[in-house]
Order: sequence, then C-alpha cells, then structure tokens
Amino acid sequence: MLSTMQDVPLLISRILTHGSRVHGESQVTTWTGEAEPHRRSFAEVGDRAAQLAHALRDDLGVRDDDRVATLMWNNAEHTEAYFAIPSMGAVLHTLNLRLPAEQLVWIVNHAADGVVIVNGSLIPMIAPLLGKLPTVRHIVVSGPGDRAPLEGATAAVHEYEDLIAGKPTTYDWPELDERRAAAMCYTSGTTGDPKGVVYSHRSIYLHSMQVNMAQSMGLTDQDTSLVVVPQFHVNAWGLPHATFMTGVNLLMPDRFLQPAPLAEMIEKERPSHAAAVPTIWQGLLGELTARPRDVSSLTQVTIGGSACPPSLMAAFDKLGMRVCHAWGMTETSPLGTVSRPPAHVVGTEQEFAYRLTQGRFPAGVEARLTGPGGERLPWDGESAGELEVRGPWIAGAYYNGPDAEPLRPADKFSEDGWLKTGDVGIISADGFLTLTDRAKDVIKSGGEWISSVELENALMSHPDVAEAAVVAVPDDKWGERPLATVVLREGSAATFETLRTFLAEEGKIAKWQLPERWTVIESVPKTSVGKFDKKVLRRRYADGQLDVTNL
Ligand code: ADP
Repeated sequence: MLSTMQDVPLLISRILTHGSRVHGESQVTTWTGEAEPHRRSFAEVGDRAAQLAHALRDDLGVRDDDRVATLMWNNAEHTEAYFAIPSMGAVLHTLNLRLPAEQLVWIVNHAADGVVIVNGSLIPMIAPLLGKLPTVRHIVVSGPGDRAPLEGATAAVHEYEDLIAGKPTTYDWPELDERRAAAMCYTSGTTGDPKGVVYSHRSIYLHSMQVNMAQSMGLTDQDTSLVVVPQFHVNAWGLPHATFMTGVNLLMPDRFLQPAPLAEMIEKERPSHAAAVPTIWQGLLGELTARPRDVSSLTQVTIGGSACPPSLMAAFDKLGMRVCHAWGMTETSPLGTVSRPPAHVVGTEQEFAYRLTQGRFPAGVEARLTGPGGERLPWDGESAGELEVRGPWIAGAYYNGPDAEPLRPADKFSEDGWLKTGDVGIISADGFLTLTDRAKDVIKSGGEWISSVELENALMSHPDVAEAAVVAVPDDKWGERPLATVVLREGSAATFETLRTFLAEEGKIAKWQLPERWTVIESVPKTSVGKFDKKVLRRRYADGQLDVTNL
C-alpha cells in the first residue's frame, strides 16, 4: 500500500527560501580585520543568491550539472554561492585553498569545473594555474585583493558585485530530483589520493536536520555560531545549511584564522557556539592563556576532525567553554557521531569519560565493527575493529567523471555497500564510539596494536608538551615501534626520560607500549585541514631527517 503523503523533494532551494523568509533578520557577519565587520541579513543573502543564479545562468551560461567551484574563505559571498549554485540545478565544488598547487590542478580538472568564484586575496593562488585548467571558462572575483595577476588570463574575468548588480532578487528555483548532485568535496587525502564525494540535495537536507537536533549541535536563532571550520572542509560541517533552517546567526572569520583575531572576534561578537578542529583550539588556548579575553559568551564548542585531547577538553571546561566532541568524514557529510553523555551519567564522575568518546550514532547512521578476518564484532566496549557505516548522508561511491560509473574501491566499500571508514575503534553497548586510531596510523608491535592517539593524548597532558605526534617506525624485533615526536613549550626543561616516566605513571600507558625512540621537533606538520600529517613525519624519519634519541 502506498502512503497518502505528499512527495515534496528535499531541495537546497527550500532551505534557502525558508531561511531568507522565516529567519530573514538573522545575520551573516564576516570579519574584515577593520574596525567593523561586514553584516548581511539572511534576507539579503537570499536576494543575492537569486541574483548570482541569474548571473551564472544568463551571463556565464551555467547549465544543469555544470560544476561551479569556489576558492573562498568563510564569508557571506561564499554562503550565497552555497545556496545559489545547487538551487539552480548546478553543482557547487568547494576547493581546498590549502592544497598544494598540483593537487588543486588535479582536482579542478578531475571535476571539470567551468567557473571558479575566487576571493580577491586568493588570486595569487589561482592565477598561475589557469594555463593548466582548460575547463575553466570564467573566473568571478569577490572581495579585496590585487586583480593584476589575472590580466591576460585564458578565462574571462568578472567582478562578483558587477555580475550580480541589477539582476532580479527572486529566481524560479527548479523542482529538481532530490537525489541529484548538489555539491562535491574531495577528501583532503590524509592517507591517500583525494577522492571526490558528491552530495545530493536529499543528503544535505537530511544531514542539516540532524545537525540541528538537540543531541547534535542543537542551536536556535538565539545563537551565533563562529564557523572556523572552512567552508571547503565538508561544507563547514553542514553549518551554513543547518543554520538557514533554524536562523542561527553565522559569524564568518574570512581569512583571519590566527589565534589573536579569533580571540578578538569572540570577545567582540560574542558567539555562543564555535566549530573547528583541535589544532585551532590548541592555538586559541595558548592565546587566551597569554592574553586573557572575555570569552564568556562561548559556551559550546564543537570539536572534530581528529581526536580531542583530554587536556584540551579539561582546559576549555575551566574557561567555561564546553567542548562537544564529534566524529565524521568527508564521506559522511560529515556528521557521524556526537558525544552528548547519556542522561544517567550527567553530573557523575563518568560524564567526562563519555564526553571524550567520539560519541553516539544518530538515528540516520547505522554502524558495525568488522574484525581483521571480516567477522562482525559485538558492541561490548572491548572488541576493536574497523568501523563501517551506512545511511542517507553517507557516501556509497566516489566520483569518477560525469559519464563514468562511480568508483567503489573494495578497501572503501563493503560488498553490501557499507562505507569502510578506515577508523579502528570500539562501540559500547549503549552505542558510544571510541576510536583508538586510524587503521593506517595504528602501530603494529609484535602482533599487538598500540594506539598512536592514546600515546599522543597522554604526552599532551604533560604541562611542558605543546604538541606531540606518534608514528610507527620499522623495528627489527617487533615489526613496528612507536616514535614520539614532541614539541616542547618555551623554556621547558623536560627530558625524554621525564616524559617517559610521566607516561608510565599511574598506569597511563602500559610498559610495553612506551616509546623508546624520541625526538623534539619545532612543530607537528599539518595537513590542508589542520590535522597531524603523519605521512610527512614517517617520511622525515625514513630520510634520516630526524635527530632521534633511543632510551
Ligand atoms: P581526510 O580523510 O583526508 O583526513 P576527512 O576530513 O574526511 O579527511 O577526515 C576524516 C577522518 O578524520 C576520519 O576518518 C577520522 O580518522 C578522523 N576524525 C574525524 N573526527 C575525529 C574524531 N573526533 N576523533 C578522531 N578522529 C577523527
């Protein structure tokens, strides 16, 4: 029997229309580095998104399925592009502005982007590459920055504001199939080549609703969210879409991502929520310790992208900022789990331990653990295996060109279609995920596994350690052993012996897991989205570039 319900497609244009009408007064505030930030209401964003869509269609000839790329910071114009491009039926492709030039070229060519909207400050990045980007016909420039490097470009160059000026502020958004492509994002390639994930209108719509649920971010129009996580990093974790559903005000840092301007933004604009990877918060913590600010407005901080060190969570608690830990991937839109402790532990000693886990799966994400032999493992809080997930906002394949069959590599998708995350962990009986490592980072020592994350967290809880990364290195006897690379705080007198003793104290780390190889580095190399880049550390070790002490 069929249902009797209406079948209204879940489209991004509906989120835009809703947000700009029902929450028209809500604001997107963009930091400018000047005395006053730039403010634009959701209603204005709606008008300008319609104008942009007209310009893209009528002036630049963008048609269904054409890829329109953005090389932009987090700001109001990027948000307009977020809504205009998918709503008109084209595909938004957010480009990661931290990628090395060759990778950027590869990705633009792979996606065959026809138009690139670029912030003026990023012209020096794209201009020298244009000769290698044959599909790019138009460059649209927004915001301050010298235009000179674009003179003589092979693509036609337009000014964003000139292009949209005078265009109608309404658009007859097409009634699309909700399963069509809306946006695409390439993985940042921490462990391999970038792979293209293509989100549908439906997947983004459902994911946005999940982001808004009280057990996820749970924000309302009384909140302002400081979106530090880049709009090129998995759609800024879905925040631009989710906030247009609920009227949450957006505070966009643009290119001002250093700890000092972030602290200033928080003090002046008083956001109640913020989202970013742990390395950003480590930096902010250092800044706030050196130069205290009034950050009392910020009561909820979403941290994900890599494991949140316990020391960071504890330090933020002291400042009154409550960290909410979340796990996800480009392939999971990204929201996969959020760590809100269950009611029965709130206010007890167990609460902190629950908050440190990666969190609980929402109803839209099914999970299972697979052991090394392919066997299903129980949710018993002990059995560790690779996490596999499925659900309406989880990728089922990778992009392989507009007319080619999508790619389903066997190491990323199971035969029955689940996503193999490459993350190793355990799940408790009540559905909380604890990741012990990435499958590619785990240290395989004499048939046992050592979690690099556990060692890093223990090291970073030492007051003299600013950052620490642990990688597997070859060992004749054990196969692999951990190498501890540490960044010491200024003026620290800690020695490797004291750090090793510290790790062994109170049974923090089992004796056989203690690293014997140690080195001090200036900073931990980071990937384009701010994660520890262990590939680089392993390479430096193999090339003999690290001065290693054996204890
Ligand atoms: P890339 O895979 O290129 O790094 P993603 O941003 O998609 O790009 O990274 C997803 C991965 O990041 C996950 O598979 C996981 O290993 C890691 N990750 C994300 N959130 C967390 C978290 N809260 N704790 C530990 N690891 C995390």
